[in-house]
Amino acid sequence: MPGFEVFGDEERKEVQDVLKTGVLFRYGFDGARNDHWKARTFEAELSRYLPVAHCHLCSSGTAAVSLALAACGIGAGDEVIVPPFTFIATVEGVLMAGAIPVFADIDRTLCLSPDGIAEHVTPRTRAVMPVHMCGSMARIDELAAVCREHRLTLIEDACQALGATLHGKAVGTFGRMGCFSFDPVKTITCGEGGAVVTDDPELYRIADSVADHGHDHLGNDRGLEGHPILGTNYRISELNAAVGLAQLRKLDRILEVQRRNKDSIRGGLSHLSGVEFREIPDPTGDSATFLSFFLPDRDCARKAITDLTAAGVDGCFYWYDNNWHYLKQWHHLKDMRTAAELPVARYDHFPDYGAVTLPESDGIMERTISMQIKLSWTETEVSERIDRMARVLKQF
Ligand SMILES: *Cc1c(COP(=O)(O)O)cnc(C)c1O
Repeated sequence: MPGFEVFGDEERKEVQDVLKTGVLFRYGFDGARNDHWKARTFEAELSRYLPVAHCHLCSSGTAAVSLALAACGIGAGDEVIVPPFTFIATVEGVLMAGAIPVFADIDRTLCLSPDGIAEHVTPRTRAVMPVHMCGSMARIDELAAVCREHRLTLIEDACQALGATLHGKAVGTFGRMGCFSFDPVKTITCGEGGAVVTDDPELYRIADSVADHGHDHLGNDRGLEGHPILGTNYRISELNAAVGLAQLRKLDRILEVQRRNKDSIRGGLSHLSGVEFREIPDPTGDSATFLSFFLPDRDCARKAITDLTAAGVDGCFYWYDNNWHYLKQWHHLKDMRTAAELPVARYDHFPDYGAVTLPESDGIMERTISMQIKLSWTETEVSERIDRMARVLKQF
């Protein structure tokens, strides 16, 4: 899946442009930079690609989540509904904003279910942040409708789903803001980087400003710019933006290869009665970074992951037991182990995450295995993989 598989001369050329001028900063130095504006160019090209009116490139996907929350005015004591299956950055972003993550169930799309939102809405609920997990999409149009009905702000964590669409519309562009990550294992990479996108010029203006200590970026003398609000530093360097720019121009090719490889494998396993594939609201819009499937029950899934690994089928994940992406194993969150006490933990309404139970999500995750789709596989490797997988999975 990841862009690092196609790192090459194009990336080196963009980085060399920057190294030749020595201007590593995305703002100013107009004379010295020889007209190279890598961050700005990336923003223009990603906006055109999705399309969306505005894009701000920042230092990470985690920073993007924080910028989106800040721009949407989500802060102290507000509740934000999130899924229990995500990378922890979604949850950390909410906590660092001083807001309170509230977990609601996922469905068979492996993303937040529109059906489970209403029961978690309280007078403090301000936003819903679905996560388009493993390259595919949530039922995001239905989630948008639920948010409209309850007057909640929809912010999409699309960090894992660049290039995915629902009925032709890019994920990340359904909500008030969308977040992307370009860390080293995402569909394309900047080395480290992220982006927020929005059609709202005011939200863009705030995000752009918060990411750079509140600078308003008006005029052409950085020293004389206004600082209408406080912010922080979530800036990306021109070196990272340069890598991302070359990667972005390879995105269509990456998606094409992923989709071809995934289609072959899915097709090759479709006759197995014990294997059920993840529900994908719009299969043609899948970015195809992962193939996810359900086994009949937890014991079967545990046996499958062991047997697949033993059969040499690499890149498979059983999220229910591994400690990365599912609430069940987030013991640091459940015990609120932080470096220093977080202000948000002092709220009377701060929940005990150790007591959160989501049987519906457990019932899905305990049966789910995901396999990463690689770009570099040859046709022979793909068919060998299908054979090995089928030999293991036909026992269920
Ligand atoms: C990767 C990721 C992030 C954070 O991105 P970084 O660039 O690594 O900070 C946030 N949310 C999800 C769902 C992710 O997969």
